[in-house]
Amino acid sequence: MEKVVNLCKRRGFVFPGSEIYGGLGSSLDYGPLGVELKRNVKDAWLRAVVTGRDDVVGIDAAIIMHPGVWEASGHLAGFTDPLVDCKSCKQRFRADDLQGPRCPACGGELTESRQFNLMFKTFVGPVEDTAHVAYLRPETAQGIFVNFRNVVETSRLKIPFGIAQIGKSFRNEITPGNFLFRTREFEQMEIEFFVRPGEDDSWFEHWRDERLRWYSRLGLDPEHLRVRPHGGDELAHYAKACCDIEYRFPFGWAELEGIANRTDFDLRRHAGASGKDLSYFDEERRERYLPYVIEPSAGADRSTLAFLVDAFDEDEIEGETRVVLRLHPQLAPYKAAVFPLLRKDGQPERARRIYDALRREFPVDYDQAGSIGRRYRRQDEVGTPYGITVDHQTMQDGTVTVRDRDATTQVRIPEDRLVEELRTKIGQLG
Ligand code: ATP
Repeated sequence: MEKVVNLCKRRGFVFPGSEIYGGLGSSLDYGPLGVELKRNVKDAWLRAVVTGRDDVVGIDAAIIMHPGVWEASGHLAGFTDPLVDCKSCKQRFRADDLQGPRCPACGGELTESRQFNLMFKTFVGPVEDTAHVAYLRPETAQGIFVNFRNVVETSRLKIPFGIAQIGKSFRNEITPGNFLFRTREFEQMEIEFFVRPGEDDSWFEHWRDERLRWYSRLGLDPEHLRVRPHGGDELAHYAKACCDIEYRFPFGWAELEGIANRTDFDLRRHAGASGKDLSYFDEERRERYLPYVIEPSAGADRSTLAFLVDAFDEDEIEGETRVVLRLHPQLAPYKAAVFPLLRKDGQPERARRIYDALRREFPVDYDQAGSIGRRYRRQDEVGTPYGITVDHQTMQDGTVTVRDRDATTQVRIPEDRLVEELRTKIGQLG
């Protein structure tokens, strides 16, 4: 984990937030390469669950919603963690994380646990009174439920169908940590998939299997993935079934994504609180019902961390240790890098021309600084799958070498076949 954190800082994937002010506990900023990686994760998710299907559409709802939403959803009353304080060292802990009755840091006596609401509170407008209280959303899901009727009325979707959303969520976590794993501000990728009651169990299985496959298709080692069904005592009161897709992080198995059968709980609550009819008329069956909901809820930052950790590797090449990120080409920030072997004989100009042509198709880097070996290593470390070198022979016959990051082997191909070749290697991005 430490090696991944260091690499992230050194190569501009993730920086400590507000660093020049000494940082702010567990607030993290994505740098130039990190922002590309995370966007590729989100794009891959969108392709898999929205644009690649004909039964899911996207929305982008506001972060600050009507406070009534959180009352109806149960977050105001129940979105809490049990908090305890150490009477000696004053550190705070989540009571459900503790192994024993005493402070894990100093062994001191702990206070009784009290419920702590995780929602960030703010005020809308200039008056700071209770009538103007609002919350930063702790999940994106509710933005979907409150738009259910809008989507039904404005699209021709028929149940079963889903609404998906990517966006920031905020939780005032008592114990954030483990780098990108748990922060107070993070991005979620959520789907609410509406089905006819009675068809919910098979859709639950569909989404559990689909989502598990997504992670391994994008490169996570299947040995590092597992599905953990929730036991009866762990199930939220509104959920009929729930499971977590877990990843074996360096600090242990932990949740990447939760998949829940939420029944008609949310639509029922919002219908009751808003007074609006949120039922659905099934024209084929001539029946009206409140749909059940299957919710696959993933974290963009958590999955980015899992992809980074799984991709991280060290091997030995020509007697030297090499750090390599074996990222799936679809996730890699750069798909290729172009190098002139020498900084003379017209090679840099030729390489730049190739770089300019490739850049119109994919994110590509250009590097002419230092030995070619060092340049390869620099790209290996950030996961660039292909290295294209312009050399003496290029100037004679128009061929370039293409080096594979993982195998470190090279093939020579005509320059004018590069785009097509890379497109095949990287796979369809669309
Ligand atoms: P945990 O038990 O780890 O707190 P949770 O069960 O409360 O998570 P959900 O409410 O199911 O999490 O949220 C869905 C997904 O959102 C999680 O699987 C995770 O990927 C992501 N997520 C939740 N909280 C955080 C956080 N504080 N930081 C980063 N990602 C988060």
